[in-house]
Amino acid sequence: MIIVLKPEATDREIDHILDRLRELGLKSHISKGQERTIIGVIGDDRILQNQPLTAFPGVESVTPILAPWKLVSREFKKDNTIIDVDGVKVGGRKVVIMAGPCAVEKLELTVGIAHEVKAGGGSILRGGAYKPRTSPYSFQGVGREGLDYLLEAKKRTGLPVVSEILDPRDIELFLEKADIIQIGARNMQNFELLKEVGAYDKPVLLKRGLSATLKEFLLSAEYIMSRGNRNVMLCERGIRTFETQYRNTLDLAAVPTLKELSHLPVIVDPSHATGKWNLVAPMSKAAVAAGADGLLIEVHSNPEFALCDGEESIKPTKFKELMHDLKKIAKQAAIVGVGLIGGSLGMVLKRQGLADSVVGIGRRVENLRTAVKLGAIDRYVSDAKEGVRGADLVVLATPVDTYERHLKDWASCLEPGAIVSDVGSVKGALVGQAEGLIPERAHFVGAHPIAGREKTGVAAGSATMFRGACCILTPTQKTNHRALQAIRELWETAGSTVLSMDPFLHDKVLGAVSHLPHVVAFSLMNALIEIRERTVPGLDLLAYAGSGLRDTTRIAASSPEMWRDICLWNRENLITMITVYEGHLATLKQLIQAGDGPGIERELERAKQVREQLN
Ligand code: PEP
Ligand code: MN
Repeated sequence: MIIVLKPEATDREIDHILDRLRELGLKSHISKGQERTIIGVIGDDRILQNQPLTAFPGVESVTPILAPWKLVSREFKKDNTIIDVDGVKVGGRKVVIMAGPCAVEKLELTVGIAHEVKAGGGSILRGGAYKPRTSPYSFQGVGREGLDYLLEAKKRTGLPVVSEILDPRDIELFLEKADIIQIGARNMQNFELLKEVGAYDKPVLLKRGLSATLKEFLLSAEYIMSRGNRNVMLCERGIRTFETQYRNTLDLAAVPTLKELSHLPVIVDPSHATGKWNLVAPMSKAAVAAGADGLLIEVHSNPEFALCDGEESIKPTKFKELMHDLKKIAKQAAIVGVGLIGGSLGMVLKRQGLADSVVGIGRRVENLRTAVKLGAIDRYVSDAKEGVRGADLVVLATPVDTYERHLKDWASCLEPGAIVSDVGSVKGALVGQAEGLIPERAHFVGAHPIAGREKTGVAAGSATMFRGACCILTPTQKTNHRALQAIRELWETAGSTVLSMDPFLHDKVLGAVSHLPHVVAFSLMNALIEIRERTVPGLDLLAYAGSGLRDTTRIAASSPEMWRDICLWNRENLITMITVYEGHLATLKQLIQAGDGPGIERELERAKQVREQLN
């Protein structure tokens, strides 16, 4: 049964409901979603049916959970469950890579592989200390010591570890030494083991049984959750079918299906699913495309000598290559306008391996040559249509005023599924305009990295330009989810903090924190020019400039062409803000005129207090 609370339900009302449910001997799980708080109630439905729960204050509706897996179901919890594994978030926006040997062997080998996993971009180390083997004569794992080796590898690399438990009597050991307890395919229906790991809040990776249906799989997860542990991940690792070409058949349809039926993270193990190292990379890519939240991959530095599953383990070099491929956003990217920002973005795309090749589109050959030399682009074309054809990512990095002209010129050449993004400082109506000019088969995502320098041109650019900066994405109702995700990843890889905002709100915010300050800096500089000429003719006033003047006018050296467009495209917001600014200047002028010392101080004090909070 699900009790949906009213948005305004108070804590007291919620406590009252929980108390009543407890009195009735029912188990309740409260889940606070972004919009609503809901209480999932598990127990004898007959007891509930006689309770007038809708009469309780704060209750909006009461509905039965139809799925046999209650706590695991999407009905119970709409938002995805995100599990924090010692700082690594599983189930969030990033695909989490867990990798390492099938079995833990020797200490140095384990540590060595852990370093390779980390260097390749993995964030969790896997390794079985206890191995469930089909034959009693096969290597059974090094046991307890294996967990110590993993712990040592964690100490040296910082990677949290996942390892498989076989016996409920080992629970204390695993609680102490592992960050995720794995329940293997052969134990998916070992109910005593499920109940045991369910009694704690240690994250659990539950693997699908060799011949388990999704229903059985989800009910096994329910066993764990019903004991109170909410940190469960589901792992699809292939099922047994009539096909004998590979060890198992990877059921990729399970990924979106499980995500539809449940809120739990879904991990895919391409190693056990195929049993063949050469199938690991393609199946990993397919799993990510299907929506997997993470991958569990067997990596061994010397698979030929691995004590377990060498045939399905990939070498560290292959692992690195695969990680690189998974990060890729575009095979071919095109940058229209290879200036300071466009050029820097090209450097990010190339250095971070986000695109196989980057083509620059522009007219100034000299500049484009420099861009090639600096590694911002691989090649350049002057015909934008030619550059856009074949590109799966096109970034508009030209002044916003030229968007319309550009899009009208080449939008019809965009490939199906191509993503068009920009780096412009104004969004508002421009986003709608771009969406209108781009054909249905392609997608637009507005982006504004709040970075840059007062210098222009690719020569002033750098791959680190966006590190630590904020990048605002401006999705609309039309924005394609996959495209948005790709652009988010691009900016995150560039080192920026990514935020999302409505395009019109973006212009209000940026009008205040960026456009108005620029206008002030430009006009302050102009005022000084006039003062120099009128008030102290013959004296080079600016030779006396200290850091105060330099700090307040640094941005007046920005591109006039770009700022002209920004002023015009954010005209209304800017006029309003300039008027507010003029008011404050007038107030200060009056106070100075009146010789009102305390008044001046009050004004300055107010500004200082807030300025000090800005770091
Ligand atoms: C493993 O991951 O080490 C393992 C034994 O896998 P499975 O339980 O999926 O066979
Ligand atoms: Mn294995």
